[in-house]
Amino acid sequence: MVLSRILWTVAAIAAVSAPMTAQTRGVVHGQKPGRLVIHNAIIVDGSGAPARGPVDIVVENGLITNIINLDPVSLRGGGRGRGGAAGADVQIDATGKYVLPGLINAHAHLQSTRGQNMSLGGYEYNLKLWLASGITSVREVGSESDTEIVNNRERLAKAEIVGPRIFAYPMLGNVKTPAEARARVQYLKKLGVDGIKILGVERDIMTAMEDEARKVGLRVAHHVGVEETNAWDDIKLGTTSIEHWYGIPDAAIPDGRQHFPSDYNYLNETDRFRWAGRLWREADPKLLDSVLTSMVRANVAWVPTMDIYEASRDLQRAQNQPWFREYLHPSLENYFKPDPANHGSYFIGWSSTDEAYWKENYRLWMAALRDFERKGGVIGCGDDAGFIYEMYGFGLIREMELHQEAGFQPLKIIQHCTSNNAKILGQEDHLGRIKVGYTADLIVVDGNPLENIKVLYAGGTNAIRDGKEVRTLGSEWIIKDGIPYNGPQLMREVKAIVDKARMKQ
Ligand SMILES: [Zn+2]
Repeated sequence: MVLSRILWTVAAIAAVSAPMTAQTRGVVHGQKPGRLVIHNAIIVDGSGAPARGPVDIVVENGLITNIINLDPVSLRGGGRGRGGAAGADVQIDATGKYVLPGLINAHAHLQSTRGQNMSLGGYEYNLKLWLASGITSVREVGSESDTEIVNNRERLAKAEIVGPRIFAYPMLGNVKTPAEARARVQYLKKLGVDGIKILGVERDIMTAMEDEARKVGLRVAHHVGVEETNAWDDIKLGTTSIEHWYGIPDAAIPDGRQHFPSDYNYLNETDRFRWAGRLWREADPKLLDSVLTSMVRANVAWVPTMDIYEASRDLQRAQNQPWFREYLHPSLENYFKPDPANHGSYFIGWSSTDEAYWKENYRLWMAALRDFERKGGVIGCGDDAGFIYEMYGFGLIREMELHQEAGFQPLKIIQHCTSNNAKILGQEDHLGRIKVGYTADLIVVDGNPLENIKVLYAGGTNAIRDGKEVRTLGSEWIIKDGIPYNGPQLMREVKAIVDKARMKQ
């Protein structure tokens, strides 16, 4: 109802204000146009400001060069100004559609293979799923190879291959001493990375690496393990972002350590994930409040990746996602099967009791996220896909739905996935917003994501339009660096990869 009313309004305004023929013309998938105009769009600009429109967005040389208001009040107040669709070499008709900044995936892994001998046939499958999901930038936190990720970043920047822009944050990896940590930071800086990801580090190593990273100007993403350090170390040492959530409730446990059973073994993943589901309940609310306040003061952002733990609270949901039927690569499918040798594939004997604890765990976690933002904290958005039944791209949209479940309103959720992520990357002066002078990373969405986040899923969702059930198109156009890509076309290409791999099985 709400959607059809808005569509009607948009169409009515367009009818009076936009005399030129509203049609998409001249757009070639994957080819940089001259002057591109996205015509008659309602925009959500990524700053958290409300939707507005209709507007024409002018894109030239990979940048947003003009945003022209087409609403009756603006038109009466000074006409449409120079340019607009009339002067377009190429036009995308966005009538009835919403235009957002390209989404940024702030916690992602670029994968060509899963586990032993499980090839995805190169990076194309992963990259196209991301792009088709409206993701135009990715913070890659832990790649298959340091040099390979930098190489891929360069090829993507030159549009030699199709996919989002990459920010490379390789792992600190297996360093044994503070001196080795410093040397590793220096090596990565020389390689030209954008930041560093740390996971499971001891305090002396973390102190040395953060100090060195600050000296050479590299940002730090910390996947805190259940280990010596916790959020207090991140607060003290100046970590850019805490990934996931471990380390935050831990820092608020009065005894300083979760009450594990005596036979708990951290390297047994079933143990680890089972008891993780009983972690938030041990956090003392007062202490937690002071941890969150201190994170805000120290500028430590939070990228929660709620989607990647969702199987723990609802295994059947995770195992039966509708896009698996057409788009799940057989190697990924194999990798997801419960097997203690595959990271995250720990669901052996997973019980209703585990799920009930995890549901409570989520409620407390979501409340903490809300508190963190209320205090002024920066929340980002990432999917961590390739593990635990989460597929590339789909995982990020699911993450947005979970932000909604946590109580954030859609305008804020879009902000989490665009301008907040740009801030975490240190790219907020040119990425993550629809703003003149900014990089032309834009998505033209078939539907209103403020009403239904599911319209962002690649392959769309079902909706009622003009009294008929239809399949929507997802992000119909994804524009990265000014180059338009057609979402449905990318998904046909993904399906062809999957069909071919299934034939070989
Ligand atoms: Zn990860």
